[in-house]
Amino acid sequence: MSDCIFCKIVNGDIPAAKVFENEHVVAFLDISQVTKGHTLIIPKVHKENLYELTPEIAKNLFEVVPQIANGIKAAYKPVGLNLLNNNGEKAGQSVFHFHLHLLPRYGEEDGFG
Ligand code: 5GP
Ligand code: ZN
Repeated sequence: MSDCIFCKIVNGDIPAAKVFENEHVVAFLDISQVTKGHTLIIPKVHKENLYELTPEIAKNLFEVVPQIANGIKAAYKPVGLNLLNNNGEKAGQSVFHFHLHLLPRYGEEDGFG
């Protein structure tokens, strides 16, 4: 999708701090870090939301989530981690290319939730 900001990141048309990439998936730091190490994981193929994912896309995406989470855990040493996903504007989705948020947690002082 030519006007999708995450497709532009996949294609290298705009920069992103990538922390993981393979044939199907890319993960990069969120531009607006809710907590330190806040990371987004996306399929390279443009799918708007969870309802549009095929089993194969979901498999390719979710099978690398533990590896990315372990990388974040090692790099940032959080005390916890949230895995979040918003579908639809009313659920807080603002970029309509499916993504998972990995949100490292640091206890009371992290200011989230
Ligand atoms: P949503 O609200 O759709 O679940 O999350 C979208 C996320 O994408 C937000 O946390 C927002 O900060 C992030 N975001 C939006 N535009 C960009 C961008 O150009 N680069 C990066 N790295 N993150 C972005
Ligand atoms: Zn897209």
